Parts: sequence; structure tokens; C-alpha cells
Amino acid sequence: MSIQTVNPATNKVVKTFDEMSESAIDAAIEQATKAFESWKKTTYSHRAELLHRVAKLMREKKDTLAKLITLEMGKLIAQAEGEILLSADIFDYYATNGEEFLADKHLNPEYGEAFIRHSPIGVLYGVEPWNFPFYQVARFAAPNLMIGNTILVKHASIVPQCGIIIEELFKEAKAPAGIYTNLLIPGSKATALVKDKRIKGVSLTGSEAAGSSLAAEAGKYLKKSVLELGGSDAFIILEDADIDKTVDWAIVGRINNNGECCIASKRFIAVEAIADEFLMKFTEKMSKLKVGDPMDADTDLGPLSSEAAADLIAKQVDKAIEHGAKIILGGKRRKGEGAFMEVTILTDIKPENPIYYEELFGPIASFYRVKDENAAIELANDSPFGLGGSVFTQDIERGKRVANLIDTGMVYINHPTWTQADLPFGGTKGSGYGRELSALGIEEFVNKKLIRVCGLNDPF
Ligand code: NAP
Repeated sequence: MSIQTVNPATNKVVKTFDEMSESAIDAAIEQATKAFESWKKTTYSHRAELLHRVAKLMREKKDTLAKLITLEMGKLIAQAEGEILLSADIFDYYATNGEEFLADKHLNPEYGEAFIRHSPIGVLYGVEPWNFPFYQVARFAAPNLMIGNTILVKHASIVPQCGIIIEELFKEAKAPAGIYTNLLIPGSKATALVKDKRIKGVSLTGSEAAGSSLAAEAGKYLKKSVLELGGSDAFIILEDADIDKTVDWAIVGRINNNGECCIASKRFIAVEAIADEFLMKFTEKMSKLKVGDPMDADTDLGPLSSEAAADLIAKQVDKAIEHGAKIILGGKRRKGEGAFMEVTILTDIKPENPIYYEELFGPIASFYRVKDENAAIELANDSPFGLGGSVFTQDIERGKRVANLIDTGMVYINHPTWTQADLPFGGTKGSGYGRELSALGIEEFVNKKLIRVCGLNDPF
């Protein structure tokens, strides 16, 4: 796949980029390695100043950066602006809190002194997806730069300009050369870099196939890895939920980011008592969404990120129907130019249907009717993924009880799964391992070194 900006609202090629040569990649790794030697010796306050400068530049250039996101991957412009602000918040958050998170942790041995020192480990390599081109990079780069590591990012091939401009922001913020480097390389060549001795840790956000490829190589070369992969979040509606408000959140949960969110609500599971009411109101409101130009502030749903993504999801819907699913709404590619897909609701998806276990990355809602709360939990957990999930109920204690039984990394009560700088993000099962954001996200790529002070006469 070539590295190109293609506007998904029109499918027109905007700009094409050459991938980096082997020697340019080698030079970039070398520069990041050299930069690490001095960056690791800087103080936390020095690093924090850089992160704050990057955050400030992001806010100042919000409009330009947001337009680039929308141009390259079709996100609604208001959501793209929100992504830039969220990314700036993440840089500020680690700049403000990083030193406290990384402070020495004093232990209490029987004699002498002992503490854990958090040391950086070196050059880190992150492979990032296109669906949140700034936010995904922020949550990998900000904590790790604060630790004193240096960063190489291979961004998704369909958002090359976003990748390039992030590196430019660092330059403008006066980051020393090699602290943050963008690598223009295709996914097919991404895993090969892992074996390079100068790279000390790897992180990938994306599909299971890419994650498995990268992590297998990391395992082979004994390098730490973090994986943030796909999801098929359940959205459980219990009989005591406020149905009208739940329907509004269901729509946000499904179509935010044009449905291309790892933590989107993808499987809507309603208990029998309210299933008809929920489905009727959900279908009615979904059918009224305005599909169109993502730059237009009145649009509710933009295109998919690429023609390939739209084609894939249309094929998944066809496959679901071939295997017995029914369409309540939509189901087809939208006529005309661009990578558009109709807002779609599918029902009658049985476990024998291959789609039952697949992620639907677009505006396609799967609806399931179950007998009761226990059946809802069972269905929610019958998934290869374990990223997020939601429970809607007016009884918060009941919500917590259900949340406790759901086998995912995050469960939200009365809200679709979402993200903020100070809350951890990550999954279990096929959704990957490790955490990003919050105090947990800064602990992945540190050497938690024990320093022990003993007296010469202390016992052995
Ligand atoms: P993808 O194909 O896996 O792409 C993600 C990144 O991996 C891109 O930079 C891609 O490069 C690279 N890549 C592709 N094949 C690779 C390989 N064999 N080895 C190493 N790297 C490779 O993912 P996608 O389908 O575009 O993105 C959507 C997926 O990401 C969904 O499953 C979504 O749920 C998941 N996601 C998860 C999270 C999370 O936090 N858990 C967040 C966002 C998205 P190219 O673009 O050059 O191919």
C-alpha cells in the first residue's frame, strides 16, 4: 500500500509520499539513540517544559491540525478539533504529573534503605493507527518522553501529513533532534524494525494481525511490548434503564468517529422487557442521521476512512446477511462519490454467523435481544475481544455488579466507553495488553530499578 493522502469524502488522491530508504531509517534510529544519551540526563522539569510547549502549539494550531485529520481520514471537523484539544491535554497531564508518578518509591526493609528508581529504557518504537491520528500518538509519546525515553513513530499510511506535522510540532517546540521522529514506512515493513538492537520497546495500536506480527517479533528479541487492539464492545440495556437517554448515548457510542472507534459500542444487548421499545426508538433516531461532508458542521456521519474500509464493512454486512442476519436499517454503500456506508442496524445474528465474533468498524450496529441480566452478561463475554463495554441501568449498584462480571479492560455505567488523560485505557483477551494514559500508562516502558543501601556489617 502506498503512503498517500486520499480524501475519503471524494476518494481523490491529494498527495503521495515516498517511503523512507533503508539508510534514512537507519540514520533516524541512530539519531534517536544518540538523543537518548542526553535526554535521559535532563530533569523532569526540563522535559515537562517541552511537553507543555507541544500542548500549547497544538491548541494554537487547532484549526489547521483538525482540518488535516478530516482531510486524511474523514472525521467530522468538530470531533477532529476535540481530538486536538484532548491530545494537548494528554501532553499537559504528563508534564504536570509525570514527576510525581515517577518519584522514587521507598520500601521498608528490615534494615538499611531500599527504594525503586524509575529509569528510562531507551528508544521506543510505536506503530499507530489512523482513526485518532493525534490522540493515539499523544498517549504513547507524552508519558514516554517524560520518562526520558526517545520516540520513533510509524504512523498509518493513510495519514502521512498528520504524522509529518506532529514531528514538525516537536521541532517548533525546540525538541532536540532525535527526541521524536516520524518514520514514513508502510505496514508491510513495520515489523522488520523490531529486531534492531537500538530499539528497546515496542507498542502498537491497531488490528490483531498487525499486533500479533509486531509482538511475536518483540518476543523473539526479548523486548517489552504493549498492544492496544480491536474491540467489539457490548452496550447492555437493562429493564430499568432510562430508554430515551440510553438511545441518545447508543447513537453517540456507535457513530462517534464515523463508527471507527476501537471502543465504539458495537453490540447492543437489550433485555426482553425493553428490547422492542429500545430498538424502535434507536432505529428511528439512527434513520434521521445526516450523512455527508465531514467538513460541514451539520453532518452527523462522515465517510469511512478509505474506500478499502468502506468496501470491507459492506462485505461484512453482506456476509452477515448470507448467514441469516436481518437488516432493520441501511445495509448498503451510499450512492455517489466517497467512502460512505449507510447507517445500518442488523438483528438475528446467531453464534454460527461468522460476523458474530468479528469487529464491525463503521456505522453498523448489531442488535441482540436476551432474556435477562445474566444472559446479557453471558453474551457480552462471548467475544474474542475484551476492550470496553457499557451497562445502562438506573440502579448504580446493579450497574457495578454487572460491570464486575464483564470481561474487559474498561466498563462504563450509563455512558459509552470513552477516554480522558487521567483514566487508564486498555484491554484484555484479543484486545491486547498493557495500559495507556493515567498513572498506569507511564509505567510500561520504565526500568523499575531496586536501589538498596546496606551497612557493611548488615547480615547476608
Ligand atoms: P492496522 O491495519 O493494524 O494498522 C495499524 C498500524 O499498523 C498502521 O500503522 C499500519 O501500517 C500498521 N501495520 C499494518 N500491518 C502491519 C504489520 N503486519 N506489522 C506491523 N504493523 C502493521 O489497523 P487498522 O485496521 O487500520 O486500524 C483499526 C484497528 O485498530 C481496529 O481493529 C481498531 O479497533 C484498532 N484500534 C485499537 C485501539 C485501542 O486503543 N485498543 C485504538 C484505535 C484503533 P499501514 O497503515 O502502513 O498499513
